Amino acid sequence: MSLPPLVEPASSLSIDEVRRYSRHLIIPDVAMDGQKRLKNARVLCVGAGGLGSPALMYLAAAGVGTLGIVEFDTVDESNLQRQIIHGQSDIGRPKAESARDSIREINPYVDVVVHNEALSNDNVFQIFEQYDLIVDGTDNFATRYLVNDAAVLLGKPYVWGSIYRFDGQASVFWAEYGPCYRCLYPEPPPPGMVPSCAEGGVLGVLCASVGSIQVTEAIKLLTGIGEPLVGRLMVYDALEMSYRTIKVRKDPNCALCGENPTITGLVDYEEFCGTVSEDASAAALGSTITTRELKDWLDAGKSIDLIDVPEPAEYEIVKIPGSRLGPGPGGSLRPWRTSTARSGTSLLTAIPWTGLGCPTCAPGSRRRPTYWPRPRWVRRPAEAGRRSGPVTPPRSTRPASAWPSSTTSAPCTGNRPAGRSPGWPAGSARTAAGRRMRRWPTRRRTGPGPATRRPGST
Ligand SMILES: [Zn+2]
Repeated sequence: MSLPPLVEPASSLSIDEVRRYSRHLIIPDVAMDGQKRLKNARVLCVGAGGLGSPALMYLAAAGVGTLGIVEFDTVDESNLQRQIIHGQSDIGRPKAESARDSIREINPYVDVVVHNEALSNDNVFQIFEQYDLIVDGTDNFATRYLVNDAAVLLGKPYVWGSIYRFDGQASVFWAEYGPCYRCLYPEPPPPGMVPSCAEGGVLGVLCASVGSIQVTEAIKLLTGIGEPLVGRLMVYDALEMSYRTIKVRKDPNCALCGENPTITGLVDYEEFCGTVSEDASAAALGSTITTRELKDWLDAGKSIDLIDVPEPAEYEIVKIPGSRLGPGPGGSLRPWRTSTARSGTSLLTAIPWTGLGCPTCAPGSRRRPTYWPRPRWVRRPAEAGRRSGPVTPPRSTRPASAWPSSTTSAPCTGNRPAGRSPGWPAGSARTAAGRRMRRWPTRRRTGPGPATRRPGST
């Protein structure tokens, strides 16, 4: 599905701009018209962190005329492993200002608008209204739902991205033409179920992989070229080096963009994303203490058995004095977990890992925790990851006639997953070696998935 350009072209480019953007101008699909549209475009980036860094830098380099930055945080040393728009000398500075200075260095023809504040119900409409397109680089569910709801209510498109360790996802949500984030994820996961990048880690360069997808989609939307990721989810796996797109349909029962919406305005997103199920509340009742309480107990000589159950990587970083190592560090018997609140106050919780009903980290499960909740359209095959037998490279289903004549005369049917090919089948050498389990079906979806059968889908 191709869409019309999001913005009108600017009246002209200066001689300097023609020189600067010459590699764009000689691409027939972009050309002068597309570059003028970029010049006239106003794009807002929510967050100047992992995804916002590459997104802002490439949007600026591409010649997007006005870039807005919503960011309230300051640069921390631990950001520099991936947030490449900031540097050593920026530590302690507001990220929005640091990003603005980097953008000016990359492209002085870009107007940068700094919104040095947290995005909230009070300012989201006023900020979003100033822009044609939003790039979502947020790292928490409350802001993610806020961005989605505000964009849908304002009728604006936005490019969404998400990263965790070696996995990334990206899509374009535009309720006018396709699904919104709530169609994909109607409800947030229980608090604490999905670790943040600070808790679970992220490969720094993954930010560039997903951020560049977001910028690519932004440029396509602004200039009206190609097929945007509307109604499709890009799933990137850095370890397998696979990109897959999965069709996502608009949910006619979506509470926000469905046929009978029940959400007609902004809601309390902290409450929406912070609600713990009754089971989880019951499991946690009276079983959580703070580090200060623990210290008081230890100082008072209270007789306690302190068990530390870190992942091996965590154990290498820090060990809790006076504790003993739990059964099988990082193993499936891990009964408790530790988490660190944003305030820096560590909490020792006795919430069982299985108490929240996570389908992937039950005792004995060989699957590692991953995205949750699982999108409603994904069906995990019963035997995924257990197949054996010889490894068969996927065959391209792309007809030979679809290949440009300048390439080889026939599509590759060997070891190169071509185009939108889904990657390697389960039971691959990597899986057989037990190094990593697949999570999703790997066969190319040849027919409509569960969501595509819904009546009224577009
Ligand atoms: Zn929706």
